[in-house]
Amino acid sequence: MTAEKRRAWISLGANLGDPKAALAAALQEVARIPGVFSVRASRFYDTSPVDSSGPDYVNAAAVLETTLTPEALLGELQRIELAHGRVRPAGVHNAPRTLDLDLLAFEGETRATRALTLPHPRMEERLFVLVPLLELEPGWRSPEGVAGGDLVEAVRRRDPGQRIRLLG
Ligand code: ADP
Ligand code: MG
Repeated sequence: MTAEKRRAWISLGANLGDPKAALAAALQEVARIPGVFSVRASRFYDTSPVDSSGPDYVNAAAVLETTLTPEALLGELQRIELAHGRVRPAGVHNAPRTLDLDLLAFEGETRATRALTLPHPRMEERLFVLVPLLELEPGWRSPEGVAGGDLVEAVRRRDPGQRIRLLG
């Protein structure tokens, strides 16, 4: 039996090395994951670090179709992060990174474990997630989440200190 294809939404971010090149390469690598189909990405954005440090980030979002489970997809995303030389310094939360790939949401699935929480618990506070996602999915709603899945409402509520602009 062929597994059914479901949609998944991911965010991409980087602020070390050549972030733009890292995101472009990562998108191609995501498209090559066995069991991943039709990756559609937002434009790239330049954003100020949020709860993080170092240079500005480049962020984007993508929607894909997959026959993988959420856990298997996250495993593949983490493999790509590692291949890009991401190191997680012990005890440093949200350290600068060459590549961060997060699973934002997965059609028909929720999770509440440390290894995987779906929808991503912090997405609605993060302009660098919301703006690229809204570009891809203007009417996106998730039944869970603090703003009831209304991304435009979440953008209104976010901390005004966050800066985001299209990458020139
Ligand atoms: P962050 O992306 O929040 O800055 P990390 O990329 O270092 O932090 O991820 C920390 C942990 O978060 C990972 O070990 C991963 O298993 C877990 N995690 C839980 N839910 C998710 C999710 N939806 N997407 C990505 N990672 C997640
Ligand atoms: Mg991450």
